Amino acid sequence: MRKLVLIVFVFIGVSACKVNPFTGQKTLNFYPNSQVFPSAFAQYDTFLTENNVVTGTTDAQMITRVGQRISSAAERWLTANGYPGYLKDYAWEYNLVKDETVNAWCMPGGKIVFYTGILPITQTETGVAVVMGHEVAHALADHGAQRMSAGTLQQVGAVAGNVAIKNQQTLGLFNQAYGVGTQYLGMLPFSRGHETEADRIGLQIMAIAGYDPYEAAELWKRMKANSGGQAPPEFMSTHPSNDTRINNLTAWAPDAAAEAAKFGVTKFN
Ligand SMILES: [Zn+2]
Repeated sequence: MRKLVLIVFVFIGVSACKVNPFTGQKTLNFYPNSQVFPSAFAQYDTFLTENNVVTGTTDAQMITRVGQRISSAAERWLTANGYPGYLKDYAWEYNLVKDETVNAWCMPGGKIVFYTGILPITQTETGVAVVMGHEVAHALADHGAQRMSAGTLQQVGAVAGNVAIKNQQTLGLFNQAYGVGTQYLGMLPFSRGHETEADRIGLQIMAIAGYDPYEAAELWKRMKANSGGQAPPEFMSTHPSNDTRINNLTAWAPDAAAEAAKFGVTKFN
């Protein structure tokens, strides 16, 4: 049995580790974009048809503008750091949905939703950029596919040796990871590590996009004040506490500003 488990892990070791360009670390992910993105795109479209998408307002335009600036900053960073073409399968979309929930989320491949309920907390375009940077970072770092991979590992434990992933299984795991069809769509919590990573990557790309990274901690202070100790679903529960987030973001802001300077961004708005 131990040998079998070892074989499974060796298989995963050689075939399933992908380097995260932002951390340089190997991550467990055996779902190629080609397998994950089509499911995500379809589910996202379904979500949009079943919810009240806001279009044409100043707020809706702001969400799109911030999203475009941040994903284009990510693209500049990736190209400059030796990962041109990393985003070729992505199909960025940033929608504002009328819903009082204080939340925002992303699905694999760059499909992002902001609820109108988060706007009183973000307050400014820079506040939106803090949350947008975080969501874009989840998409860039393949956190969704990693979450699916972790689910697969548990199943692999049960059927040791059989690591062939069938399409039907992929879909099942996708639904499991995203709670598709329930009110928790796209809201299941990421791991603490993924949350912290998304905070750090998000801070850098918001700065490269020209948004003041020193405002990130301020956003989280407002989130903390609003939530009475409870973070909204995407940022939920076992994850970094608001205080940890505020401390981290404060400590990382100078690095993010220095990174932005490499791209000629020395003034923020
Ligand atoms: Zn998150």
